[in-house]
Amino acid sequence: MTGTFYVAGAGISGLTLALALAKFGATVIVLERSATISEFGAGLQVSPNARKILDNLGLAEALTARGLEPAGIDIYPHRAASPLVTMDLGAAMREAFGAPYAVMHRADLADALYKACRRFANIDILFGVRSWDVVSHARGITISIDEANGQTRMGRGQAFIGADGVHSQTRMKLLDGPSAKYGNRVAWRALVPFDSVAGQIALDKVSVLFGHNYHLVCYPLPHRRQVNLALFAAVKQISKDLGNRPRLPRAFPKGPRIEVLLTAAGESWTPWPLYTVSTPKWHAGNIGILGDAAHAMVPFQAQGAAMGIEDAATLAPLLIREASAEAAFEKYEAMRQKRVARVARTSATNGKIFHMRWPFSLARNLGIQLQGSRGHLRRLAWLYGYEVPVTPPADGTLHYPSALR
Ligand SMILES: Cc1cc2nc3c(=O)[nH]c(=O)nc-3n(C[C@H](O)[C@H](O)[C@H](O)COP(=O)(O)OP(=O)(O)OC[C@H]3O[C@@H](n4cnc5c(N)ncnc54)[C@H](O)[C@@H]3O)c2cc1C
Repeated sequence: MTGTFYVAGAGISGLTLALALAKFGATVIVLERSATISEFGAGLQVSPNARKILDNLGLAEALTARGLEPAGIDIYPHRAASPLVTMDLGAAMREAFGAPYAVMHRADLADALYKACRRFANIDILFGVRSWDVVSHARGITISIDEANGQTRMGRGQAFIGADGVHSQTRMKLLDGPSAKYGNRVAWRALVPFDSVAGQIALDKVSVLFGHNYHLVCYPLPHRRQVNLALFAAVKQISKDLGNRPRLPRAFPKGPRIEVLLTAAGESWTPWPLYTVSTPKWHAGNIGILGDAAHAMVPFQAQGAAMGIEDAATLAPLLIREASAEAAFEKYEAMRQKRVARVARTSATNGKIFHMRWPFSLARNLGIQLQGSRGHLRRLAWLYGYEVPVTPPADGTLHYPSALR
């Protein structure tokens, strides 16, 4: 079923979907509310399951140029002077899962996707879109779009896919789905110069520092000569002004390393309340959702964007192959929902484990130590080793680009 597909949202999920659909020859019109590709956020970890898809879509070179393959993850329990264990990444990840585990700036990934999309004449990205309305019917969808210049454009297509993020209008308005739920945690993010934290953490690795009710994740972005800091802390009530400095539970002294890291970012922290989305309804008729719009999760396994990328790579061939978008969405739901739910559960459990208080934290530390530097490769093989199933079309009439096979 080639034809025209409308995608709301030019985030990582929406752009990946646009690219995958365009590679099959479909026409894609992406509606983005912002005036440009969003620069929000800071660092992003891209695990092999997502990286394989992005590489297949032709992004390998761009991502290698802008990312870093960290050698490992240094785990620092509360106030520890040296890492309890270093979990191997680097070559170990490539050997185990056939693709790198990388860290990069989110804007660099978004930019690489955007540039890849721009090479396709069959992808049109409309920025500054004010609003849109969509109706699903037997022949596909009809849409009206209020564009940035105040004009209204009408269109018809095969399907409308909402990749419009955690507070998705597609989910709430068109699918009658739930609002996102605040998860009692806030992420404070900052970028600091290399020099300001040298000597505190390894500049070729990810570092994770545990505290009671908070943890700090740090990793270098050498391409920008910056270190990404993300501090996650329990915050029961979100107020309008969360401030530009993390609020940490006061019960324990923080230790010198974390003090230096927090101070390095001064008042430049950006608070990011964490919301989750749980809904079984990912489509109605020829309208569907993917990425955070369908299943925003807490970021404690660093998989939210990866799941959006997997969604896109699963959905695109189904939309092309199936007789109707509705049939494609049904298969996509069946193929994705169990896996996404498992990843969301794993992330939520990590959140509890990372934030444990003494003496439970002692048991956690012992468990991490026993797992050693390679245990995570076995424990998380189901996650990182996953490959999106793309089956050839039954009637053999469609040409699948080899990059997506
Ligand atoms: C602190 C933190 C750290 C994270 N770390 C990682 C990590 O290391 N690895 C990882 O894989 N994931 C990580 N994540 C999760 C990841 O950032 C998200 O899962 C991912 O960005 C979701 O992408 P998306 O395209 O689905 O949604 P979004 O990025 O939210 O994109 C939605 C797009 O839709 C647009 N939009 C919204 N409403 C409309 C509308 N009505 N019409 C048109 N356009 C609209 C928005 O402007 C935006 O461009 C992290 C998240 C947080 C908060």
